[in-house]
Amino acid sequence: MKKLSVIVPCYNEEECIPLFYKTVSETVKQLPVELEFVFVDDGSRDRTLPVLRELARGDERVRYLSFSRNFGKEAALFAGLQAAKGDLVSVMDADLQDPPELLLTMYKGIEEEGYDCVGCRRTDRKNEPKVRSAFARLFYRLINRMADTEIVDGARDFRMMTRRMTDAILSLPERDRFSKELFSWVGFKTKWLEYENRERAAGKTKWNFKKLTRYAVGGIEGATTSLLKVNLWMAFLFLLACFGFVVADIVLAALGEYVSALFILLPVLFFIAFALLLGLFVVSEYIKKIFVQVRGRPVYLVRESAEDLRAGEGRQ
Ligand code: UDP
Ligand code: MG
Repeated sequence: MKKLSVIVPCYNEEECIPLFYKTVSETVKQLPVELEFVFVDDGSRDRTLPVLRELARGDERVRYLSFSRNFGKEAALFAGLQAAKGDLVSVMDADLQDPPELLLTMYKGIEEEGYDCVGCRRTDRKNEPKVRSAFARLFYRLINRMADTEIVDGARDFRMMTRRMTDAILSLPERDRFSKELFSWVGFKTKWLEYENRERAAGKTKWNFKKLTRYAVGGIEGATTSLLKVNLWMAFLFLLACFGFVVADIVLAALGEYVSALFILLPVLFFIAFALLLGLFVVSEYIKKIFVQVRGRPVYLVRESAEDLRAGEGRQ
């Protein structure tokens, strides 16, 4: 029987966890899998840890890790992925905003339809402050224009994936992790399920505007180096302005008009700015190479090989 690991990052979720545990256990009973919970307590300040201890005492399928302080959801997710032992690995929020019954559809997608991963996207942003939705949309538009891999708007971290895809994600060694991009960067066949937004079962959202902004900016920085091109664009803008002034000066002189010292000096200044920015652009090209090298992502990832086929693990 295959093992299914459910990874749950928890930050101050004392009210949600017992409910989550009950609902998910009930739901997964319908699947022919052995269940394993991997709760990651992300330095909670409420009774999350005692609640987890209690659960772990009563049920040996429950495993938990507790961080020494709050390291953030990305860190919790990574820890969970490292700890999970399942052949199938699922990531869920503790607040039941991720509908547990979708686990059944996800399982079918992987085991019957041959997908490597089944993810979820919200089709609406009801119950969310309008400003937050607007910024979220802007974020997705920006990042998708700049990054090479597609980051699906409204995609949740809620998903189920195969062991091979999980290992692929773990093989990305970067410290600064932005999972939405990692999930998409590793490739593999992903199916998207859609569902309507739900309210939290209890407690409050852990995100405020500042945290979200930091998350978004960090995501863009990590996913793409195209911001570095700003140097080049600015350089050309200055070059254009420089040419404009040179032409204007020549025309004025030809017409016998008075050309002020400022009008002669400005194109010189613009040219210097152009030269400096161009130099900066050259440097940034090397920084880009260093960034890619230091990030140390694998050059390629294998989805299937003849060895898998012979071992009976080939996928459709
Ligand atoms: N979370 C976490 N560490 C944090 C913030 C959040 O582990 O620093 C967990 C949280 O307990 C929850 C999940 O990440 O299980 C999603 O958080 P939340 O529901 O607050 O986000 P939202 O659904 O509002 O986007
Ligand atoms: Mg939530």
